[in-house]
Amino acid sequence: MERILNYIAGELIEPQSGEYLENIEPATGKVYGEIPDSAQKDVEAAVQSADKAFPAWSNTSREERSRIMLKIADLIDENLDMLAMAEAKDNGKPVKLAKSVDIPRASANMRFFATAILHESTEAHQTDGDAINMTLRSPIGVIGCISPWNLPLYLFTWKIAPALAVGNTVVAKPSEITPMTAFLFSKLCIEAGLPKGVLNIVHGLGPKVGQAIVEHKETKAISFTGGTQTGKRIAATAAPMFKKISLELGGKNPNIIFADCDFEKALKTSLHSSFANQGQICLCGSRIFIERPIYEKFRDAFVAKASKLKVGSPYEPESQVGALVSESHFGKVRSYIDLAKKEGGKLLCGGDVVELEGDYSGGYYLQPAVFENLPFNCRTNQEEIFGPVVTLTPFDTEEEVLNMANSTPYGLSASVWTNNLNRAYGFSSKIKSGIVWVNCWLFRDLRTPFGGVKNSGVGREGGWDALNFFAEKQNICIRL
Ligand code: NAD
Repeated sequence: MERILNYIAGELIEPQSGEYLENIEPATGKVYGEIPDSAQKDVEAAVQSADKAFPAWSNTSREERSRIMLKIADLIDENLDMLAMAEAKDNGKPVKLAKSVDIPRASANMRFFATAILHESTEAHQTDGDAINMTLRSPIGVIGCISPWNLPLYLFTWKIAPALAVGNTVVAKPSEITPMTAFLFSKLCIEAGLPKGVLNIVHGLGPKVGQAIVEHKETKAISFTGGTQTGKRIAATAAPMFKKISLELGGKNPNIIFADCDFEKALKTSLHSSFANQGQICLCGSRIFIERPIYEKFRDAFVAKASKLKVGSPYEPESQVGALVSESHFGKVRSYIDLAKKEGGKLLCGGDVVELEGDYSGGYYLQPAVFENLPFNCRTNQEEIFGPVVTLTPFDTEEEVLNMANSTPYGLSASVWTNNLNRAYGFSSKIKSGIVWVNCWLFRDLRTPFGGVKNSGVGREGGWDALNFFAEKQNICIRL
């Protein structure tokens, strides 16, 4: 049994209650470890430790903060194989995906913000000849960072890296469903010499640990990534306390494929954007709209490819689709496949449970499902499924597809496929989402603003947006 411990005041410690939760391996459906079932008292200890560490860390030179964070990034790279294996075991994703995306991105996050702080500058505004305004930016204090299970170390570091780089101290909570790489990360922080209390990681359930972090009067800002319903609760708690909040929430993203696109590229990327990480990426395109003249050609080619995707254990190098993250999520995704059928959807391929043999017979495997013939406003096309399920819908005009694309309560990202440059700009700007990728998907530049509109969230992460979120600005106006 692998026992995970909290990381508080620089030490790896048991929860005060001595209670643990089971950690389940999605590939097998079996318990393989224990997670601290922490509570308010553990959060209190973590906040106190972060509060105590704040004066020294916020006064540590940016070069030194950067040096320590770069050391952590190097340690992530040195432990790539071990971390990728741990991520796959905890989450069910193919090891090769964790090794090529999740873990390299975690070290990139650390490096990006560790070096960004070496290049930032503050603003000054001269008000005619009468005054000079100087804008100071200071760290805020103790920050609460709460992350989800789908890209565990990747999204965990995406928050704590900018928070720490700016000079804040952090109390963080990874998802209780995938806590392992955050635990391994805490060991790397110790090895890198991160001063005690600068980062504290409290493991446990959202309504206990997460809620206690958000409610604590000393956490001055909350950075959250997760579901829209949880985001609502967090906003309801944090807003009356006047905390800064950044909420990265769910999505129901459209892929819009015009007849003038590069067909092969659109096809290949749409397959990837539908089913990568078992469809469990907030940016996955789960509604594919195809212009009528190429609808049938695209549909047939897409279904041919989707039905050949190899579903298998995360540890098999040839697996393209691994296990879904948990039994309850597996059940939720399957219930949406039933719903899609009830709503009149025609199942073109997949949707069946895949029964593997031996150790993996209890794992959560599903053949990617492709539906057509569903109205754009039915529940299947409006609610976030967050699994390997997509719908195909034909369209005739830009106006019609724009209306369908913008019809959900979400607005995280979209992917548009066209070789018409005017359309690429004009049409994309009318999509109500925080991110639009044209002729690509999930092509990231960490300097760009990342986040959603409508029920997909509040605020932007990435680049200066993240550094500004984790800083307090003060303007000093000197009358000349
Ligand atoms: P979730 O909301 O259930 O959990 C996210 C985190 O919040 C977990 O650590 C959980 O323990 C914690 N939590 C739960 N209840 C809480 C509470 N009352 N107070 C404080 N914290 C609490 O989400 P999930 O199921 O882990 O993740 C899937 C969701 O995340 C999907 O909706 C997906 O779209 C979204 N997501 C969004 C982005 C983005 O960048 N917009 C990225 C990844 C995932």
